[in-house]
Amino acid sequence: MSDKGKRFPLPLSSVVDQGKKRADSAVRSSTPVTAQTAARNAATAGVQARSAHSGSSHAPNSGTIPQRSAPLISDAVRKAMVDRVASQGVKDPIVLGAMQAIPRHLFIDQGLSTQAYIDASLPIGYHQTISQPYIVARMIELMRNGGTLKNVLEIGTGCGYQAAVLSLVAKDVYSIERIKGLHELAKQNLRPLRIANIRLHYGDGMLGLPQVAPFDGIILAAAGLEVPQALVEQLAIGGRLVAPVGARQQMLQMIERTGVRDWTSTTVESCHFVPLRSGVM
Ligand code: SAH
Repeated sequence: MSDKGKRFPLPLSSVVDQGKKRADSAVRSSTPVTAQTAARNAATAGVQARSAHSGSSHAPNSGTIPQRSAPLISDAVRKAMVDRVASQGVKDPIVLGAMQAIPRHLFIDQGLSTQAYIDASLPIGYHQTISQPYIVARMIELMRNGGTLKNVLEIGTGCGYQAAVLSLVAKDVYSIERIKGLHELAKQNLRPLRIANIRLHYGDGMLGLPQVAPFDGIILAAAGLEVPQALVEQLAIGGRLVAPVGARQQMLQMIERTGVRDWTSTTVESCHFVPLRSGVM
């Protein structure tokens, strides 16, 4: 795989520039409103990140979203996060660019949004978490392997943050969530960003999406005791799957499909994720 001829990432200016000034200049609400959703945060910040993926029928919104109150979170705060992720060893400029472009605070309850850019996972409800920025970047870097990604699959949409980052490094992103409430939350969070190349599915991600496979890349955002066979079977030849594996002690595992019946597996580093569970709720 090579970078030649790739259409991604999109120019970052086309992703967030329209809304960024309003988000930067927004002021913090004096009343803590913990029940406020990230979607509402997005609307109040007026951010309009979008994918310009051609062939999409979704036209980006050019209208102005009224600014009310939003956390004072600027590009500089996000830049500090990206610099930290780079200092932790992530080198892929496309991944770092995508992390800079996506407003992570809009995926977190407003009561926690001042912590959105710290080096930690944070609760998103239903006993689940948004993954730590470093691990999001590292997994995408490993999956991308410096190449061009046509379609990728994420297992565990959660609040939708990683799917948004993926939307800037792959042409099409499919993401599955097994908890209905989180599937709905991700939809709400992503709607104001108007990203045209993400498809959210409610279901058991352990089964993958055979109707869309093969995938150039697959990421699991939850840890199983092993990687489900259905998922490795849905990798394209040359594609990479990155997944946390284990219970208390977890390791990040990278599986590459090298042939019709051949896969290689590499253990990368230790990690900590919520458990992968079967079925839906
Ligand atoms: N990708 C998210 C992380 C979400 S946490 C982010 O951007 O930060 C992991 C998610 O995986 C949880 O929401 C959990 O419900 C989900 N999950 C666990 N097992 C799953 C399965 N079999 N299918 C789909 N989602 C699953």
